[in-house]
This record gives sequence, C-alpha cells and structure tokens, in this order.
Amino acid sequence: MTVVGHLINGQMTTESERTQDVYNPSTGEVSKQVALASKTTVEDAIAAAQAAYPEWRNTPAIKRARVMFKFKDLLEQHADKICALIGEEHGKISHDAAGELQRGIENVEYACCAPELQKGEHSKNVAPNIDSWSEFQPLGVVAGITPFNFPAMVPLWMYPMAIVCGNCFILKPSERDPSSTLFIAELLKEAGLPDGVMNVVNGDKEAVDTLLNDERIKAVSFVGSTPIAEYIYRTANANGKRCQALGGAKNHAIVMPDADMDNAVAQLLGAAFGSSGERCMALSVAVAVGDAAADALVNKMQEAMKGLKIGPCHDADNDFGPVITQQHQQKVFGYIDSAEQQGAAIVVDGRNPSIDGYENGFYVGGTLIDRVTPEMDSYNAEIFGPVLSIIPFETEEEAIKIANDTPYGLLNFIQTQDQKKANRVARKLRSGMVDINGAGLAPDAPFGGYKHSGIGREAGKLGLEEYL
Ligand code: NAD
Repeated sequence: MTVVGHLINGQMTTESERTQDVYNPSTGEVSKQVALASKTTVEDAIAAAQAAYPEWRNTPAIKRARVMFKFKDLLEQHADKICALIGEEHGKISHDAAGELQRGIENVEYACCAPELQKGEHSKNVAPNIDSWSEFQPLGVVAGITPFNFPAMVPLWMYPMAIVCGNCFILKPSERDPSSTLFIAELLKEAGLPDGVMNVVNGDKEAVDTLLNDERIKAVSFVGSTPIAEYIYRTANANGKRCQALGGAKNHAIVMPDADMDNAVAQLLGAAFGSSGERCMALSVAVAVGDAAADALVNKMQEAMKGLKIGPCHDADNDFGPVITQQHQQKVFGYIDSAEQQGAAIVVDGRNPSIDGYENGFYVGGTLIDRVTPEMDSYNAEIFGPVLSIIPFETEEEAIKIANDTPYGLLNFIQTQDQKKANRVARKLRSGMVDINGAGLAPDAPFGGYKHSGIGREAGKLGLEEYL
C-alpha cells in the first residue's frame, strides 16, 4: 500500500516507525498509509531548513517572488491531479476542491507582491543630520500546522508568504488527508526553490511537539480546532516563539424580516451544506428575526433541500460528499439525536443517507433543525457537519446578543435589504468577519476571529507581518 511520506531537503522519504491509515471517505475504504514523523525526522527537517536559510534570506526579493510566479503556473497546470487527490482523501466534490485550490492560488499571487509589501519606511532628519529607517526582516525557520478541511488552501495561506519573505518553512499537514498538500509542496522544487527552504513532515502530536519545543523554530502558524489552537498558542509562547493560532467557529446568519428570502436560502444552502459543513466559515445557525421570517426561512429551506445531491467526490453533479471519518459521521449523528431529545424539531433528517453503491462511505445528509434553543448541546458545539439550526428571536438586539454570546467569533452573516441596518448590526457583532447578503474570500483580506476562534490573522498584510 502507498505510504505518504515527508519532503525533507528536497528529497521524499517514507522512513517511519509509525504509520496511520488514510481513508477514502467516499467509499469508506483505507486507501493509503501516512508516515508519522518521529522527533528525529522532524529535527532533520529543521536542520535542512536552518542550513538553507542564510542563502535564501540573502536572495533578492524579486528572485524569491519569481519562484512564486512559476509555482502559480504549476498549480494551474496540475489542478486536476490536485483536486482528485483532495477528493480522494477529504471527500469534497471536484468543483468544491477546484474552488479551494483557486483560493490557494490567489494567495500565491498575493505572495508575488511581497517585494513591494515588505518595504520598510524612512524618516528624514529625526534629529539634526540623522535619518531613521525601519526594515522588515525574515524570522528564520518557521512552521505551519494545518487542519484536514482545506488541505490545499490553508497551507497556501502560510508558506508562500513566509518563503517569499525570506524564511524557511516546515509544514506539518493534517495526517487525515496528506497527499494533495505534499504533492503541492513538491512542485516548489520544479518552480526553482532551493532544497531545504520548504519541508513537509507528516505526523501527529509527536511531530507538532517537536516543532513547538525546538528553539530553532522562530514562529508557528496554526489552523485547526480550538482546544489544539489554545495548546499550540500557550506552548509556543512559553517557548518564546511568535505564534498565531486560529481555532473553531460557530457562525451565525442573522436573517432580518426584510431579507430577500430567496437569496438567504441560496446563500445558506451553500454555506451550511457545502463541503458537508466542514468549513470554518460554514453557517451552522440561522437566527430568524420575527416569526414571519422564521416560518418563511424554514419552509423555503425545506423545499430547497429536496434538491441537494449527496454522493462520492468524483461525481460533479453532487452538491456535497461525505464527512472526513466514520467517527466524525457518528459524532454528527449524535448531535442530531441530542437536539431531538432536547426538544428541537428535526425538519429535514440526514441521519439515514442512502447512497447507492457507496453504502460504507461516511455520509451525512443535509439536516435542518428548527426551534433550537441556546441551552441545547447541539447549539453549543461546533458540529462541523451539514446541519443547519434555526433559532427564532423577536428583535434585532436579541439576534445580536445570541450571536455575540457564543464562545466563538469567527464570522457572522447578515441578510437584509437595508444597508444602514446591515452596517449598524455588523458594527455590533463580535466576529473577525461579517458578510452582508453574500460571501467571499480574498487573499488581501486578513482572515481570523475573536474569542475562542483564535489569535492572529492569516492572509492579507496582517498575515504577511506574522512572518517578518
Ligand atoms: P485539529 O485541531 O484536530 O487538527 C489540526 C492540526 O493539529 C493537525 O495537523 C493535527 O495533526 C494537529 N493536532 C491534532 N491534535 C493534536 C494534539 N493533541 N497535539 C498537537 N497537534 C495536534 O483540527 P481538524 O479537525 O483537522 O480541523 C477542523 C478544525 O479546524 C475545525 O475546528 C475548524 O473550525 C478549524 N478551522 C479553522 C479555520 C480558521 O480559519 N479559523 C480554518 C480551517 C479550519
């Protein structure tokens, strides 16, 4: 069986005492194994990065950017293969994988601007005959630790920018879907990146802890679940490293009585169920303001969900595929069970999806739960599945309060045709991002949240400054 290994100093290696199964979630079968790096393997990667650093840091910025231009071309040339690898291990449908890759490519494009973005400042005559200037410098060897749900885009938030700024990088991708991430990193060599500048170690806690405790690692970028984000942040800080750690989310859509309900439903279909709800920016709660909005939303959602197609990743007609593991599938079913037991109404039930020919895949059907209350367990958890909960409230103030009372604060969404109202509500929401009537991701816009959604930002100028 294929073993997915590591990329160290420009060479692939599968040497490892420990391995873990990698599943194809569409079929439920084990398709590969992934090598789990030991402390020694991670230290080899750090040593390679450390050795490559002096020359890379002194390479002119425009030459470093040129590697990223070529890398972008290679990502486009190999898009079909990358999307197939994402689908096989993550389960996302090809159009969804292509969207993810496109967002990743846009981050590479943005990284090509680094020579301009990292310019310093010059102040004349701060005292007689004395000028003062500041310059941005790379940090050295930096590390990224990434989640399963965006195996292409989240790493591409991190290392193109870190590398183009003159750092060397060690990436520890998710062990659940490692192949696309590794294949993408291999393309950097063909793009002209010197060996050792970019390294990938696959693995688990042992690899992560080695990175966190090694004093040669100067900064750590993490994206994943909140408990691990908080562990990473604490440990990296205790060890004197710069760290940004982005965590989980429970994003609320506030649907006002004057919303264009057809648009609200179209947006929610994509944002609640796309990628099986396994997106940090998934909308998992819709707060309907007023009974009329709640009734219209539930009725229209129920009708629209009849058209959702669920199935294996390679069938582009499907709207979404399976969730990542059987264990996660059972966890999502458990949250639907508990909502039912605690008095919510299961309007559309995704607990028994039947996909012909793919009976062992890890599928969860689109689920709509009405009359949810803030006390329910399913409301308080980041379900990370294709489940949308509806909570009705009477007033705008109550809707804002419920959205702000969650421990998370990544993203909120407002549906209204009144722009003044949208701006007023957006300013009161404690989330890193607010979408109004539609959503989008841009490489020059910083991405991140408040509260338990983490500390720091990826992408944009704030993301760049993490590596300087
Ligand atoms: P996860 O926290 O389980 O894993 C993320 C990374 O941490 C992986 O590389 C994993 O190997 C490593 N890890 C796991 N357990 C560890 C431990 N005990 N010690 C050290 N390292 C450990 O997250 P996941 O399930 O892969 O991803 C889904 C989560 O990521 C969701 O909570 C989602 O909201 C979040 N996420 C957040 C953003 C954001 O921008 N805020 C973006 C994408 C995903």
